[in-house]
Amino acid sequence: MGSPFIARPLLQSAIQPALVSPSLTLMRTMKVRASVKKICDGCSTVKRRGKVFVVCSKNKKHKQRQG
Ligand SMILES: [Zn+2]
Repeated sequence: MGSPFIARPLLQSAIQPALVSPSLTLMRTMKVRASVKKICDGCSTVKRRGKVFVVCSKNKKHKQRQG
């Protein structure tokens, strides 16, 4: 379930700066967990700097950060 989204190519992140750039703003509402997981179909995982993030287009509360 949702496995195709795990191996998201880096190039795709590069052409979606809106998801990646405002990281400082996102982290204020983001939960920090030892492990992150996708909660709904709008959730997608993003790997940055060796950490895994979950961003969601449907529910902002789904945003998570690993570490
Ligand atoms: Zn979600």
